[in-house]
Amino acid sequence: MKSETNPSQQTVSAQTKTSLIQLPKKSILLPKERNRLALRFNPAAWAKLAYFRDKTENEVGGFAITEVDDLLNVQEFITVKQEVTSISVKFDDIAVADFFETQVDLGRKPEQFARIWLHTHPGDMSEPSGQDETTFGRVFGKCNWALMFILAENNRTYAKLSFNVGPKGEILIPVEVDYSQAFGPSDHKLWDEEYQANVSHAAWLSDFDLFTGETTGFKDIPASGRSYDFIGELERLDPIERQIVLDELANRPDLWNDGEVMFI
Ligand SMILES: [Zn+2]
Repeated sequence: MKSETNPSQQTVSAQTKTSLIQLPKKSILLPKERNRLALRFNPAAWAKLAYFRDKTENEVGGFAITEVDDLLNVQEFITVKQEVTSISVKFDDIAVADFFETQVDLGRKPEQFARIWLHTHPGDMSEPSGQDETTFGRVFGKCNWALMFILAENNRTYAKLSFNVGPKGEILIPVEVDYSQAFGPSDHKLWDEEYQANVSHAAWLSDFDLFTGETTGFKDIPASGRSYDFIGELERLDPIERQIVLDELANRPDLWNDGEVMFI
C-alpha cells in the first residue's frame, strides 16, 4: 500500500511493493490529455504482434519503437533473438545489445526503443506471471519509467506503466489501436523470416536421452509441455539417472544462468 510517509523514510522493498493504482473514473485531465495517457499502437505494429502471437503456442517478445514526441505511441514491434516456452521468453543479451546499437545508429533515443517490453501469451490470460514481474523489475527497474505490455489470445491486453522517479508507482493504462494514423501494409513473408531467425523453442528435459547421454536438440514443446512437471519428474528418477540429468544441466549453464542471459 502507498502510505503518506515521507518518501525518504520508505525502504526499497516498500517502494517496489507499491500497489497498482487504477485510473480514477473521473479524471481531472482534459479529454485531449486523457486520451494521450494510453498505450497506442499503430495498426501495422499491432498486426505484427498479433501475427507473431498466432504463429506459436509459446510466448513471443520484443521491444516497441515509439515516436520521439509521443513515447506511448508504438510505431513498430521488433523482436530479437530469443528462446521461448509457453510461459517464458528469454532474450539473448548479445542480440539485445546489437538491437540497442542499431537503434542508436538510427538516431533514436533509449526512451523510444528500450522502455516498452511487448510480449504475447498463448492462452487467454493477459495478466503477468510471477516470472514476468521479476523480469520487469530486474531488467527495467533502473529506468526512470518502463512499460510492460502483454497481448493474450482473444486480444486481451495488459499494460502497466511503472515509474521509478518522483513518488514512484505503477499504473494500469488503457490500450488502443489508433486507426487515425497512417500505417503500412502487412508483410507476412518478412515477418515469417524474422520469426524464423529470432524465435527458438527452448529445449526441455524430455529432449535428453537418459540412455545415450545425448540431447536430441531443440524441439517444439509438445502441447503437454505446458504443464511439464520438471521437479516431479526429477524426483521420480532413480538416484543414478537423476545425477546424470543434474550433470547434464550443470553443463548447460545457458539454461539456468540468468546472469548471462536476459530472461524475459
Ligand atoms: Zn508473460
